[in-house]
Amino acid sequence: MSGFFGAVSKEDCVFEVFYGTDYHSHLGTRRAGMVVYSPENGFDKSIHNIENSPFRTKFTPESTTMHGNMGIGCISDYEAQPILVRSHHGIYAVTTVGKINNADELSEKLMGGECQFFETLKGEINPTELVAALINQKENLIDGIRYAQEVTDGSLSMLILTEKGIFAARDKLGRTPIVIGEKAEGYCASFESFAYLNLGYKDYKELGPGEIVIMTPESVKTLWNPGKKMKICAFLWIYYGYPSSSYEGKTVESVRYNCGKLLAGRDKDSVHPDIVAGVPDSGIAHAVGYSNTSGIPYARPFVKYTPTWPRSFMPPHQNKRNLIAKMKLIPIKELIEGKSLLLIDDSIVRGTQLRETTEFLYESGAKEVHIRLGCPPLLYGCKYLNFSRSTSEMELITRRVIKKLEGKDPGSETLKEYADPESQKYTEMVDEICRQLHFTSLRYHRLDDMLAAIGLPEDQVCTYCWNGKE
Ligand code: SF4
Repeated sequence: MSGFFGAVSKEDCVFEVFYGTDYHSHLGTRRAGMVVYSPENGFDKSIHNIENSPFRTKFTPESTTMHGNMGIGCISDYEAQPILVRSHHGIYAVTTVGKINNADELSEKLMGGECQFFETLKGEINPTELVAALINQKENLIDGIRYAQEVTDGSLSMLILTEKGIFAARDKLGRTPIVIGEKAEGYCASFESFAYLNLGYKDYKELGPGEIVIMTPESVKTLWNPGKKMKICAFLWIYYGYPSSSYEGKTVESVRYNCGKLLAGRDKDSVHPDIVAGVPDSGIAHAVGYSNTSGIPYARPFVKYTPTWPRSFMPPHQNKRNLIAKMKLIPIKELIEGKSLLLIDDSIVRGTQLRETTEFLYESGAKEVHIRLGCPPLLYGCKYLNFSRSTSEMELITRRVIKKLEGKDPGSETLKEYADPESQKYTEMVDEICRQLHFTSLRYHRLDDMLAAIGLPEDQVCTYCWNGKE
């Protein structure tokens, strides 16, 4: 994932861009950048690698040396950004959130027109540079932004810093959010709605799908009206959104409580654990909701050691990530020994981490480990966002188990049957996952319950990774 923040102000806003961007650190672990602008000094840009050191540490020098009354910042799991561009639109800086599945095709087409790209690592084109090249195909920035969003397959939200103000453009189907905050000195645009509250901003408005605005210190003007069709990512509420954020008026923490409540309702009297616990961090709120509804006490049989393991310290290789995830967890033996535990996590991707956590609880004396998930089985890889923990579809535990049960890779009709929680195939898949991962019992959230927990109409929410519906 990636996250971004931008501010326009009558005063210097570097402090705000610095902290506003830092509040997106949970969305990326690899690169971060800031670009600020002032009429006196022009554009000033800085990019750092944040793999081993958090954004705040890396950008502390810039927070005092940079000056400007407009700026954008970004935390990224992939490419270095924002990038600074000189074009017929003038000089501008752009930062993006999303995924471009047809990047090769688009770049080939542009290179046919003699456009050139600077390569990033592994020979791939920087996707944000590709977006800038697409924007530059059109006469003006608005047409350029719309063109880039139209031709990309995937999703694309962006902030563009120009001498005149900051353009904020939400993905055409609103797959990711952009929210605007206001205060007397100006405005900000943010992926996470909570990021500006401690900076003195109040909610101004959330951009609709495809909406484009320009922010100046004096006003926010809509340049392109929002479309009617929306497909906001449901995983924002389940896993990667920050608990204190709201999207489309639905707060992450409350949605997770609702998920836990509905999971507890499905379990009614079928299991009798001694305690309910959440896998830190995103499983905790689901567990609180479960505990409050079931009356089974909430406890923390293990805690995460965070002082020297900041979220940003995440090596890119999966085996090292698993090891570090494990080393962060410290058991509290008296809450585990001889106890039956019900543990809630947001989801299972490959299953490796949750299996290791479960083993670690058994080794610490747990009698039973019941697992509940905050979402249905992940059956399809996400086509719309770049996740650091995303994996090829064939590595998903569901796909591996289905292949074993079917004796071959499943076709689309077979997958539909596995997505149906009323089907025999679904039960067999869940039972096999439970057996392979050594859980005492396993229950996934149902899609209808998850949508009820979010509280938006089904046709406004992306559920592709669970049911393959585009
Ligand atoms: S496929 Fe899943 S993770 Fe991707 S945007 Fe849709 S709901 Fe979100």
